[in-house]
Amino acid sequence: MDLPDFTLNYWPFFLTGIFFIIITGRYFLVGGLFYLIFYVWFPLKWAERKINKKKYKQGQLKKEIKWSLITSILFSVAGAITVILWQKGYTKVYTRPNLYGWWYLPVSLIIFMLLHETYYYWLHRLLHHPPVFRIVHKVHHDSNIASPFTAFSFHPLEGLLQAVFLPVMLLILPMYYYVIIIQLTIMTFSSVINHLDIEIYPGGSNNIWGKWIIGATHHSLHHKQFKYNYGLYFTFWDKIQKTESPVFKKLFEKMTMKQ
Ligand SMILES: [Zn+2]
Ligand SMILES: [Zn+2]
Repeated sequence: MDLPDFTLNYWPFFLTGIFFIIITGRYFLVGGLFYLIFYVWFPLKWAERKINKKKYKQGQLKKEIKWSLITSILFSVAGAITVILWQKGYTKVYTRPNLYGWWYLPVSLIIFMLLHETYYYWLHRLLHHPPVFRIVHKVHHDSNIASPFTAFSFHPLEGLLQAVFLPVMLLILPMYYYVIIIQLTIMTFSSVINHLDIEIYPGGSNNIWGKWIIGATHHSLHHKQFKYNYGLYFTFWDKIQKTESPVFKKLFEKMTMKQ
């Protein structure tokens, strides 16, 4: 069956609408599920691992959801543009899994995540320059105590800077379409976990989570201290640039002492 030309008629709007339903659905499903599990159904079980004892600001969740919906619109437009670019043959997205060999599937995922980490880390450093911070990044930091709904709570300019990364990468880096879906799923879960304000990873500061993978303790310190812990998935840029919070190790040990 031949696909219609996605640049014609109502197709760009229709694609944007479909993406909006998927992206907001994913946000409420994952963010909502984590909120229900950790804050409504089993808060006592996780009380020892709650990082900040303070409550959210009045109206915080409402604001976060509003900004996240605006971010979702931007991500949806980026998604529709990506599909159109793919149809016109401009992207390196491929649909035969063994086109570059099976080994390339996990390798492409790792390459993408390392590049995403690098882009985000340096963008995030730039967003913390005072004039830029006030206009663009303050919205995200209004949530001193993060919640699962902070995950996509960005000013539209920041949302845009984040939304362009995937389409631009797909012009350069060959990726199998299911690998893209896996990457987007990892991104969603990691963002919600990092903003949960409850440490869910296993204990010991020398395990992979204490050393290399970013979780709730690591990112909660960014929301509180501002000048440390800029990373997205991994800690290596913070370690190389010496921007990892000096209290992280101790706090992670304390948070994970009780299993
Ligand atoms: Zn920040
Ligand atoms: Zn954050």
